Amino acid sequence: DAKHQGKGRVAAYRNGMLEAATERHKLEADLRQAMSLNQFHLAYQPVMELDKDEIVGYEALLRWEHPERGMVPPASFIPLAEETGLIGEIGRWVLEEACGEAASWPNERHVAVNVSAVQFRSPLLLSHLTASLAKSGLPARRLEVELTETALVEDGPKIASVLADIRRLGVKVAMDDFGTGYSSLAHLCEFPLDRIKIDRSFVVAAEENSRAHGVVMAVVALGRHIGVPTLAEGVETKEQLELLRNLGCEAVQGYLIGKPARLRGDDPRSREPLRATA
Ligand code: C2E
Ligand code: MG
Ligand code: MG
Ligand code: MG
Repeated sequence: DAKHQGKGRVAAYRNGMLEAATERHKLEADLRQAMSLNQFHLAYQPVMELDKDEIVGYEALLRWEHPERGMVPPASFIPLAEETGLIGEIGRWVLEEACGEAASWPNERHVAVNVSAVQFRSPLLLSHLTASLAKSGLPARRLEVELTETALVEDGPKIASVLADIRRLGVKVAMDDFGTGYSSLAHLCEFPLDRIKIDRSFVVAAEENSRAHGVVMAVVALGRHIGVPTLAEGVETKEQLELLRNLGCEAVQGYLIGKPARLRGDDPRSREPLRATA
């Protein structure tokens, strides 16, 4: 009967919740060990400047090679790392690893590192940046930190002063995934920035949707007017590339130019991205 069915459904729902909680617990336990078991590495995706058609840098993207699960994408463990506080240790490793690897590249290309909102709020970020640069010998001008808008929602003047501190070190600051978070034009008035990264979703939509095309055009122009260069993320086709070039976007990133790849290690392809690939 209906009542019985209802009870069954509640039980199934409870079981589902329980499974999800158990799964989360397992993932968390594994994540706690991942660092000491050397399961992390960084993949680097090239950044191409459009005026010279030249690779000018790379974004470091965290990869977790799990012995049973395989490659766990950052979207499925970064939020957990943030909730559990593990992001502090992981984020610090990412920073040191990225600076260390970039310092060994035979060129002047920059490395962009994603910094989570949790790290950004920590008073230790500045000293971690300084320490990573000192330890690696990487010149500060070759390091860029990427922040999403969610990192920039709180106390405006406080954020502006942290950004200014970072830039005083000579490190560059990029706003990541622009347009997808709590975008506010006030941010652009208030915060010192070196780059605006236009989210992939706009790039994809711009080809088919005239409004999205208008939005990308306006953001590129906005960047130009406030003296902050724009970079479009997730460029996959020649058509998208030409569209962005025509709009005057300064730089692009995406599978068309290069997928994230290791730059060192045993893989013979690993050294490939060090040469200009596009
Ligand atoms: P993000 O910083 O916006 O990085 C861009 C994401 O888009 C990367 O996904 C990249 O692999 C993917 N991508 C690049 N080009 C293309 C393309 O042409 N097509 C498509 N479909 N995708 C493209 P990934 O590596 O899975 O990283 C996802 C997100 O995880 C990143 O988004 C970033 O927010 C976060 N993340 C990655 N590494 C770190 C890290 O070291 N620390 C922190 N805090 N977050 C990280
Ligand atoms: Mg990023
Ligand atoms: Mg992004
Ligand atoms: Mg993104």
